[in-house]
Amino acid sequence: MPEPLPPGSTIGILGGGQLGRMLSVAASRLGLKTQIYNDTPDAPAFDVAAASTVGAYEDASLLSGFAKRVDVVTCEFENVPAEALHVAGEIAPVFPPAKAFSVAQDRLAEKDFVSGLRIPVAPYAAVDNLGDLNKALARVGTPALLKTRRFGYDGKGQVAIHTLCEAETALEKIGAAPSLLEGIVPFQRELSVIAVRGQDGETRFYDVVENVHQGGILATSRVPASISDSVVFEARKIAGTIAEALNYVGVLCVEMFQREGEEPGLIVNEFAPRVHNSGHWTIDACRVSQFENHVRAICGWPLGDVSRHSNAVMTNLIGDDVEAWPALAAEPGLGLHLYGKAEARPGRKMGHVTRLTPKTSD
Ligand code: AMP
Repeated sequence: MPEPLPPGSTIGILGGGQLGRMLSVAASRLGLKTQIYNDTPDAPAFDVAAASTVGAYEDASLLSGFAKRVDVVTCEFENVPAEALHVAGEIAPVFPPAKAFSVAQDRLAEKDFVSGLRIPVAPYAAVDNLGDLNKALARVGTPALLKTRRFGYDGKGQVAIHTLCEAETALEKIGAAPSLLEGIVPFQRELSVIAVRGQDGETRFYDVVENVHQGGILATSRVPASISDSVVFEARKIAGTIAEALNYVGVLCVEMFQREGEEPGLIVNEFAPRVHNSGHWTIDACRVSQFENHVRAICGWPLGDVSRHSNAVMTNLIGDDVEAWPALAAEPGLGLHLYGKAEARPGRKMGHVTRLTPKTSD
């Protein structure tokens, strides 16, 4: 085990969005500094970091210069090119491990990996052309979702297919990109597990979160989820199995469906090798947030207390929602988080709020 990085050390973060911003704030509380690398100059994380680099993730010399100025490198988005992780990894330790990114970036590799661990996933089949899609529809059935293998997020890069005659248009809609057909899971609820794994393999789990998506975008996250202890146990076991199989270090989020009428009935939708929107409530409702625990894990520090002191509902402020900030700022008991983004475009995450109430259960 390497020595923990002492206060005063610098974390290099690839990606400058709100997740990088909240990671930087958490790092600064522990006396650590951050430097941000982002491919555009208007990154929300730049406002709160010790230094910023604007450059392409393909620019090997700029990236290696960046890695030389920091003590450890991490990422705040999952589509960071494999080559960028390799370049940084030649110079500084990189956490989470590159394999977590290569698997999570490709929905087919992800489904193969998770099902290879004997964890249930939705029925799926790879699709490269119309012939594949027709065969896949015969196997998976309808209704189904056609999802691009790469670069899909917040419901982007996916089209629903209700009848066989929609196949050709669906493929056109996703630009005939290499994709995956996935059966639509009739679920009673969506859950996520935020886990943190240290360099020594110790793994801790925040309380299981119940999520509601609207139009493919996370709208609210609630803890405690209305699930039994056996579902909590199974959900954590699944997340722990994935973290261990990846020899993971840092915060990992595993998103799941609980099938209609089944107990536990858990099916993994996807995992994210990073801090996650469904873990934002941990800033206000836990002793140590997901952001601080990610920082602790990648710096080799002891993991922090994941226990929750309050019930919480996190609501994303999407697009124009953010204009309500004066009223939100005046609301008692509300945690307001604004990401400092200049323009409130539709579908853009501009901030979030967390409403706390007294803790009712574990
Ligand atoms: P994803 O881009 O895979 O995270 O999907 C975004 C959201 O779409 C999920 O959180 C679900 O609400 C919904 N969704 C995705 N895949 C499925 C599926 N196979 N069955 C039912 N709903 C799904």
